[in-house]
Amino acid sequence: MPFSRHRLVVLTLLLLFALRCREAEGTAHDPTDREAEDALVQYLRIDTSNPPGNETAGAEFLKQLLQKDGIPSQLVGSDPKRQSLYARLSSGTNEKALLLLHHIDVVPVVANEWTKPAFGGLRAGGYLWGRGALDVKSLGIAELMAFVNLKRRGLKLKRDVIYLAVADEELGGRHGAGELLATQPELFANVGYVLNEGGANETVVDAVTQWGIEVQQKVPLWLRATASGPAGHAAGVPSDGGAAAKLVRALAKIDQLETPYRLTPSVQAFFRAAGAAKRDDRSELLRTLVDPIDAKRVDAILPPGYRVLLRDTIAITHLEAGRSVNSVPAKAVAEIDVRLLPESDPNAMLERIRAAAGKDVQIEVLLQGEPVPESPRDNELYRLLEKRMHDAYAVPVVPFVTAGTSDSRWFRKQGIVAYGISPFKVNYYDAGTPHGADERIRARFFSEGVHLMRSIVADFAAQQP
Ligand SMILES: [Zn+2]
Repeated sequence: MPFSRHRLVVLTLLLLFALRCREAEGTAHDPTDREAEDALVQYLRIDTSNPPGNETAGAEFLKQLLQKDGIPSQLVGSDPKRQSLYARLSSGTNEKALLLLHHIDVVPVVANEWTKPAFGGLRAGGYLWGRGALDVKSLGIAELMAFVNLKRRGLKLKRDVIYLAVADEELGGRHGAGELLATQPELFANVGYVLNEGGANETVVDAVTQWGIEVQQKVPLWLRATASGPAGHAAGVPSDGGAAAKLVRALAKIDQLETPYRLTPSVQAFFRAAGAAKRDDRSELLRTLVDPIDAKRVDAILPPGYRVLLRDTIAITHLEAGRSVNSVPAKAVAEIDVRLLPESDPNAMLERIRAAAGKDVQIEVLLQGEPVPESPRDNELYRLLEKRMHDAYAVPVVPFVTAGTSDSRWFRKQGIVAYGISPFKVNYYDAGTPHGADERIRARFFSEGVHLMRSIVADFAAQQP
């Protein structure tokens, strides 16, 4: 009868649909997905705000995760409260080792700006919430899952693989990667490649439009400006205005320093590749940009994220002076975050800033990064990353230059190839949350990134059957 035939068709369709769903679930419900998610959630609950860091708690957590798979690891570093974690899977070969790097510390939070607890490790609305969800505990867990996968599957390694979780990246890495490379070089014997944070991808809704493998970064120069003078009642203000006024005048001059646009070779390579991948009004400009730069055109077309790669930047980030409206403070302090193109001379910039500040304001260097050469791209790891990222999302992969900084620079300085990658898709509306409020990662994007990381590491480190 037509009716039962109709029911049969409906039933068949439902059955097919159910089978389809089960297939889809088959990939979505890989048992390690839950394991990775649980690990990230627990990691997010450990407060490793730097300062002070307290990275040892994070290092111990990761250590016990590795222990479950019978992988020995060691806490390393000179400060008992600020330990890093190191584990190595040996291959018995002399091939250049791969080091999987991430930092345990996170930037502090302003708790009342968050709508969810910053260290609650909450799962809500398809997201995993917490400081470090994007920067960069998610990468740490993805690397850990890729690392233990090698052991679990008993894969024969063609090169050693090292898992390293470090302290202190957010404040420059001197007490983490910098210290370890300087004082325990044996940990890094035969390391040829590092995979670290710092990559970028552009995600529109659910689709990636471009992946960036970070090969070069700007150079940080962090400064503190201090003005002093007699303290006293504000009604009897000194003729020069006192410490706060002196500082404000100096900062105004520093803020007016000009840092013209110029094009460096790494940025040109990035822009050309990014321009070729785009289909909008930025495309032609990115592809054809040459020195001398048409500043008006750049200002009109390129968003700030691209423009900062064309010049040194000076940001006044922290101010401190006085406690009450009617007292002149004895001291006023400002901190200034300068980011230099790798070809710029840090000492020349320092001299310009000192000259602008004048003799009444002392300029002290808090951090001075050294320019390091970009990581080359003519090797098997870059080709593999390019291929895997392209295959995963069928989009262009470009050599990316970041305006930020990361621990990759410590390794590049030693001639070790280091790439910044972000295996996770990140929507633009989530992309602003690292270092801000409500940092979060979409649970599905996290799982996909864990899978991608696992296949990259297995491909690069394990012998093919
Ligand atoms: Zn980071």
